[in-house]
Amino acid sequence: MRAQGFGYAYPVAPAPQSKQVWELRNAGLGVLSNMPGAAKGVACIEDTAVAVTDLPAYIGEFEKLMAGFGQKSVYYAHAGDGELHLRPILNLKKTADRVQLRQIGEAMARLVKKFGGSLSGEHGDGRVRAEFIPLMIGEKNYELLRRIKRAWDPNGIFNPGKITDAPPMNTSLRYEPEQQDKPFDTVLEFPDGILRAAEKCNGSGDCRRLDFAGGTMCPSYRATRDEKDSTRARANALREFLTRSERANPFSHRELYEVMDLCLSCKGCTSECPSNVDMAGMKAEFLHQYYKTHGVPWRTRVFANIGGLNRLGAYAPALTNFFLKNPAVAPLLKRVLGVAPQRSLPAVRPSLRRWFEKSGGVAAYRPGKRPRIFLLR
Ligand code: SF4
Repeated sequence: MRAQGFGYAYPVAPAPQSKQVWELRNAGLGVLSNMPGAAKGVACIEDTAVAVTDLPAYIGEFEKLMAGFGQKSVYYAHAGDGELHLRPILNLKKTADRVQLRQIGEAMARLVKKFGGSLSGEHGDGRVRAEFIPLMIGEKNYELLRRIKRAWDPNGIFNPGKITDAPPMNTSLRYEPEQQDKPFDTVLEFPDGILRAAEKCNGSGDCRRLDFAGGTMCPSYRATRDEKDSTRARANALREFLTRSERANPFSHRELYEVMDLCLSCKGCTSECPSNVDMAGMKAEFLHQYYKTHGVPWRTRVFANIGGLNRLGAYAPALTNFFLKNPAVAPLLKRVLGVAPQRSLPAVRPSLRRWFEKSGGVAAYRPGKRPRIFLLR
């Protein structure tokens, strides 16, 4: 490439530095999603593909087109396949940007068509690009799609408005035009505010990966396979209530509590989500705010102080264990504490120090037996 004068940089990254190249690739989406401020790279033309040989001309025209809109785009690509994930920077809470969203969408559909490419090279037309399908495949072919859809779904109940008869892409958006973000007084520090922290979720759904995909994120979804227990659902619910709630304390909704409840605060999402959504941090803040209105439940107080309570119970272990294990009392205790009936409550034991004192210290040392270690103050 150097000899032919192609390119402008020729780095060589042998192992182990080559690992960093792959890590940069993995971090790409997170870097894009973590753009500060309300304007974000919007995934509206992010799946275009043209023939690799057409890429230079295509990119040249694309850049001119963006300049015409006063825009700079984010590029994220596997250009070797001719596929470019392009994202104009838009604030969809602003009317002008919502208008531009559609203008850019249509202009891009025409540009891709001109190069004989695909508007949905890797993913799907879905809801965002569906209105441009007639333009891409022609009215006659589009009518065939509509007829197929009508034949199988005469009442239009399956995914209405997707692929066929889709409404304009800039309608039914998450936010209202000219929506103002409210400031939130949080105890934890979120560099750009808690709403922006939730808005980092780009909806890619990586939190729905199952066990065989490896990693940790998201254990609650893996357990229930229910969307409401995914990181994405928590981020979605948070931004919904933080933008639309009329209550003085927008964190106080029971629905939010239910979506947050199964989050284990494991921080799997902080490291594995492509946008590094930190749900553990948001859950901690949410609970603090929620408890301001609803009070701290008894169950939470018990578990928060379990060390002290166990120490107390250890003074009379037999009596404590009688209550913890008694078939009449234990179920009642579990119900009050919100513990699943199938789980057993762990028995308490005398403290190590008491046991050691009682056993006469050195008496516990048994020559010739497996060595034991005693930790004492
Ligand atoms: S912190 Fe919560 S949301 Fe994030 S991966 Fe763990 S359980 Fe899921």
